[in-house]
Amino acid sequence: MYTWLEINLNKLEDNYNYIQKQTNKKIIPIVKANAYGMGSIEISRFLKNRFNIDIFAVANYNEALELYNNGVTSNILIFNEIESEFLKKSINKNFIFTIFNLFYLKKWISYLKEDISKLKFHIKFNTGLNRLGLEIDDIPELIELIKKYNLNIEGIYTHFATADSDTNFMQKQINKFNEIISILKKYNLNYKIKHLSNSPASFNEININENYVRIGMALYGLQPISNKTINISSIFTWKAKIIDMRNIKKGEGVSYSQTILNRDSKIGVVPIGYADGYMRQLSNKAYIMYKNKKCKIIGNVCMEKIIVDFTDTDAKIDDEVIILGDNIDIEELAKNSNTIADDIISKFSKNIPRRYIYEKQS
Ligand SMILES: *Cc1c(COP(=O)(O)O)cnc(C)c1O
Repeated sequence: MYTWLEINLNKLEDNYNYIQKQTNKKIIPIVKANAYGMGSIEISRFLKNRFNIDIFAVANYNEALELYNNGVTSNILIFNEIESEFLKKSINKNFIFTIFNLFYLKKWISYLKEDISKLKFHIKFNTGLNRLGLEIDDIPELIELIKKYNLNIEGIYTHFATADSDTNFMQKQINKFNEIISILKKYNLNYKIKHLSNSPASFNEININENYVRIGMALYGLQPISNKTINISSIFTWKAKIIDMRNIKKGEGVSYSQTILNRDSKIGVVPIGYADGYMRQLSNKAYIMYKNKKCKIIGNVCMEKIIVDFTDTDAKIDDEVIILGDNIDIEELAKNSNTIADDIISKFSKNIPRRYIYEKQS
């Protein structure tokens, strides 16, 4: 294998335990986008076996179906829109669907008729993110449809816009959600589950009345709040081997569009590139690790290769390097590519083999 992602399930377990202890709520692990690149099937199976997970969450139906087909028997909450025919096929599956506007709810009802009462739903309300979610004005019609079609509403939720930065706005969203709760109460709507918090919301100081939290990034060890370090650690290391090596003279160029070298250099090829999720913006900017030395990417990142400056090291063909993890800080890499860490890890190609490591604690 010339490149692989090493995923440390002991660290995932530690992160989970820490989050559990800090929040004291039930955790809905978010495994959308292939569990943020970590491998949704393996991550879900592991968490399901180690902990008592009631609900996992994904963005889309095909992600839920993949988990279902691979034996994940917990409930799977789907955030996004579903084709009516898929809803119909889900009647005996462990899926929970989101009602986030009346348009799709009515479309589903007209397709499924009374069968719709056999499905489970959570209702999502918009409280300020202004992305998905019902508005307060939608509630009377919503309630009418719920009663008329005997809909099974298991939970309600909303999603924060600024939990990592602006707690004032977050508090406004909480207030709006509380207002929604009291309106629903007047209509005697019953449900078991309330969830608002994502990772950042779970780790700032604001107290939220909810029995579940939706946790993605913190499980995988990405720091959720920028000016505060919480006691979680990154669960992955991206490794690769050097597959070619040569000496180049000062003044010669390297890679597409030729970056000119300003000294005699020893350069090596590592078989990963932007098709694997290593951003092209990192060209001539980022570093990888060889032993304990930082080695700079030289020239443009290619689709499936990078070229690295190994001058001043004893690196040779077939030696191992670390692309990301350990001493290569993902936050710094994200900054260098003008994005956030989630963006980088969720784009790790499915083609990169994942190696899961788990050492049983005695
Ligand atoms: C992705 C997502 C989350 C998880 O957010 P993190 O900050 O990664 O914990 C929670 N809720 C919704 C609706 C999401 O789309």
